[in-house]
This record gives sequence, C-alpha cells and structure tokens, in this order.
Amino acid sequence: MATATVIEIIRQFLHKPFTNTFPVKYAPKNMHKALEAIQAGKVEITPPVPVPDDLRGKLAYEKDTCIGCQLCIKVCPSKAIEFKPEERKIKIFIARCTFCAMCTEICPTNSLAMTTEFLLGTAEKYGKDMIVE
Ligand code: SF4
Ligand code: SF4
Repeated sequence: MATATVIEIIRQFLHKPFTNTFPVKYAPKNMHKALEAIQAGKVEITPPVPVPDDLRGKLAYEKDTCIGCQLCIKVCPSKAIEFKPEERKIKIFIARCTFCAMCTEICPTNSLAMTTEFLLGTAEKYGKDMIVE
C-alpha cells in the first residue's frame, strides 16, 4: 500500500501538467492590465492546452440547411435560441448557452454542431462574436 502511494507520488511528479497557466505564462499582478496588453498585441497569449475533439464549445450553425422547424428552440433549456420569422432561420445567443448539445442532437438537418472553440470570455455578451446566425 505504502509502496503504491510512493510510486503514484513519483509518477505525478514526473508527469507533465494537464493544464497550463493561461492566458499569460506567469500570474500577473494585475489581470485587467494583462488582458489589455494582450488586446493591444503587446503580450503574446500562452497557447491553451489541446482540447479533446468532442469538447462542447461554441455552436456552429449552417444557415443554408436550416429548415426553420424550431425544434432546437423547443429543447434549449436556457432559451439561448430565438426564431427569426422573417427569414425562418434562427439566432443563437452564446452568452446564454450552457453547451448541453441538445439542439445539435435534435436538429433534423444537422445544421447545428458543437465546435472546440472555448475562448469565449468577453465583456460584450451581445457582441457580434457572441451571436451566431
Ligand atoms: S447547446 Fe444547449 S443551451 Fe446551447 S443553444 Fe443548444 S440547446 Fe441551448
Ligand atoms: S432544429 Fe435545425 S433545422 Fe430546425 S430550426 Fe433549429 S437549426 Fe434549423
């Protein structure tokens, strides 16, 4: 028992970390300033660790194949999808999405898919990057 524990401790010491410091290599004293520097291109972002292919990230929407059936709206638990009656298409508010993937499962034309995009932090929750249509 004790041997197994020691082996596990050594294994963990030698194992590469599963995470990394993000978005900058060293914890800054002021995160707000660090983010401003990143936005201004003065500091390079630390690349995030690779994510699995089946990660449930930002939704992708194939507008051309959407038939406007509204099933996705019916199953969405967070009311993140709205119908656009004039076009018979939908609009997704990513800031409300809980990434449950239920809309992707019910869509009869596979017009919705989860992507691996997960860097979605923003101060503008209704900005153009946070609305998919
Ligand atoms: S993934 Fe879930 S929460 Fe997000 S839009 Fe689809 S059904 Fe709604
Ligand atoms: S379920 Fe699919 S086809 Fe129906 S409205 Fe939603 S995206 Fe369009």
